[in-house]
Amino acid sequence: MVNVIIAQVTDRLELSTHSPAQTQQIGNRLGQLLQPGDVICLAGELGAGKTTLVVGIGHGWGALEAVNSPTFVFVNEYSNAGGGRLYHVDAYRLRDAADAESIGLPEMLNDTAGTLLIEWPERALACLPPERLWIELTWTGEETRALRIEASGERYRQLIKMMG
Ligand code: ADP
Ligand code: MG
Repeated sequence: MVNVIIAQVTDRLELSTHSPAQTQQIGNRLGQLLQPGDVICLAGELGAGKTTLVVGIGHGWGALEAVNSPTFVFVNEYSNAGGGRLYHVDAYRLRDAADAESIGLPEMLNDTAGTLLIEWPERALACLPPERLWIELTWTGEETRALRIEASGERYRQLIKMMG
């Protein structure tokens, strides 16, 4: 991990990756650190690598099911051996807070055994808690991506510290 760090300050970590596998590795590391109640926002254009990162997160978290893209179903739910639940939401098609409620986002956030990963978080911002980890992925070349990870709140500052 150390070789890809570009910058690290208390509430921010910037990484670069040069392959989908490396992006998954970063996800894997993050997935191992996740706890129930965590909210991870994944922003970035189509093809930026959000879902690729999620596959790694799911693996590191210990998902018992295969992790894939929920684009056509809004949300995929995974479980691990510890009885945790991992929600992977794709908010691309949500128009407003009522839409976010209709897919059950408030219930996912209230689930004390649940961890939330949400792609296109901008579309559900009104429903998301102010404390969260915000990851912005940017296309920098065919095989390269930049990841900017920003923490809001102490829990997520700790998470960034552990990731670095
Ligand atoms: P999103 O969910 O943001 O739309 P996906 O993860 O579904 O993005 O797709 C990213 C695409 O870019 C995949 O086809 C992946 O193989 C490719 N890719 C190439 N290089 C990288 C990289 N370094 N990190 C992540 N994805 C990459
Ligand atoms: Mg996606």
